[in-house]
Amino acid sequence: MKFKQALKFPHVFQFPAANRSAIFAAMANSSEDLPKIISHAKEYGFVFQSSEIYDGLSAVYDYAQNGAELKKNLREYWWKSMVQLHENIVGIDAAIFMHPTTWKASGHVDAFNDPLVDNKDSKKRYRADVLVEDAMSKVEDKIKKEVEKAAKRFGDTFDADMYRATNPRVLEYQKKIDDTKARFKAALEASDMTELRQIIIDLEIVCPISGSRNWTEVRQFNLMFATQLGSVAEESNTIYLRPETAQGIFVNFLNVQKSGRMKIPFGIAQTGKAFRNEIVARQFIFRMREFEQMEMQFFIRPGTEDEWYETWKATRMAWHKALGFPESKYRFHDHIKLAHYAKAACDIEFEFPFGFKELEGIHSRSDFDLRQHEEHSGKKLQYFDPELNQGYVPYVIETSIGLDRLFLATLSHAYTEEKLEDGSERVVLNIPPFLAPIKVAVFPLQKDEGLPEKGREIMNMLKYDHICVYEEKDNIGKRYRRQDAIGTPFCITVDHQTLQDNTVTIRDRDTMKQERVAIAELPRIIGDRVSMNNVLRKLV
Ligand code: ATP
Repeated sequence: MKFKQALKFPHVFQFPAANRSAIFAAMANSSEDLPKIISHAKEYGFVFQSSEIYDGLSAVYDYAQNGAELKKNLREYWWKSMVQLHENIVGIDAAIFMHPTTWKASGHVDAFNDPLVDNKDSKKRYRADVLVEDAMSKVEDKIKKEVEKAAKRFGDTFDADMYRATNPRVLEYQKKIDDTKARFKAALEASDMTELRQIIIDLEIVCPISGSRNWTEVRQFNLMFATQLGSVAEESNTIYLRPETAQGIFVNFLNVQKSGRMKIPFGIAQTGKAFRNEIVARQFIFRMREFEQMEMQFFIRPGTEDEWYETWKATRMAWHKALGFPESKYRFHDHIKLAHYAKAACDIEFEFPFGFKELEGIHSRSDFDLRQHEEHSGKKLQYFDPELNQGYVPYVIETSIGLDRLFLATLSHAYTEEKLEDGSERVVLNIPPFLAPIKVAVFPLQKDEGLPEKGREIMNMLKYDHICVYEEKDNIGKRYRRQDAIGTPFCITVDHQTLQDNTVTIRDRDTMKQERVAIAELPRIIGDRVSMNNVLRKLV
């Protein structure tokens, strides 16, 4: 993989650092913060429940005026890093509807199932695998707590690894995890639903609503939405809303390779809607029935998959970390159950307010998908490798991230409640400036005396490069707070001095410091701070 050559960093305007030690800032970190984030997202025009006037549709959401901009910027960050920065990756936009045999070939018709279980008392439905995974994480948390307690007790001399390896209570917890993992893996691999239920019973998992252990049998449930093509309802007309975007890439593999004269290794990227009839759809936009994926399939020579798997793991983690959120918020999680064709698979997990959960999947998929499509279509999907002078079905490394989950990760990390030096409070969204929905707000100090006209001039100068808003209602303090709550990195105030010397004050969202600068300097100052390219350059 080759990256295009990086340009040099332009001069970056630096605001003086505020005395942030005097500001108490609380980030959204716990599950109690989720309701606050949801109501903030609604109040400030980020995310609305779909069809709210009809009491909403479960697990379906609409992106509002600010949410649509943030989502577009996140998508662009992904697209540019994948397609624009890699000479050997191209992007496509395949249809949501596909020939039904696609889903037979991919295995979705037969095996895209989740195991579901009901609690007979609360009548609530759960994913059996999620119940078991959550129970295991609780035991892991217990180990973490034991280690933290011991670290406090022993001070500097404490050796965490040694403690984990010798402390009887920790060893007992670890054994419980290891034994459960082994049983769980075997049950999933054998699709043994009776054993899966038994694990739930043995772990003494209770329903959080009823508090009882009165569970039904575990059953498999297919997650695809089916509909009819045309007007005649025959089974042969049944088509599906795609449950992933990847298959649109696989079936076009040869078309893209030939029309783009692509040489292996090369990638095909795509963003688009996917649909899953999720059994348990909770946690806001984390698990939706209609969502957006950003997927890339990287086609490689068989035998090079381990190397490329590691490369893509590192590349994707670097991409996440370039967003500037704390490194401790990310971790890799290897899949317990591998599909029979998969050589390796892991998730990049993010610490959401409700704990570490999957944000992105990275999968080494062998030649499984292309071979399946060869078999079902009767068409060859081979690549002729001129260096080897031989044809083969390429292997694939896949990276697959949910745009909505990335949105939630960004929003939940950005949501901050601050107590300021003067005792007042503010809610600010510390969204990385290049992703912020609105980059600049322009405020004339008054509604008259020529200040609005000057404000409009500044708007006209900046609006071709950035999304800007103009506001003259309310006092300046209130206007600042409103923009803080949306995450606008810059507020520009036009005052009487502006009319004399063409300077304005520019206020930084994070430090709240104001600087007086020449209007002519605004494009450079703002351009540097909100530049996506400056972040993309860090990836090279
Ligand atoms: P999970 O285990 O959470 O159900 P998955 O392993 O089924 O996810 P993949 O099939 O690997 O997910 O899909 C790739 C990515 O698509 C996920 O990492 C996630 O970010 C996103 N995604 C999957 N299902 C949903 C959903 N229902 N709502 C929002 N995003 C989703």
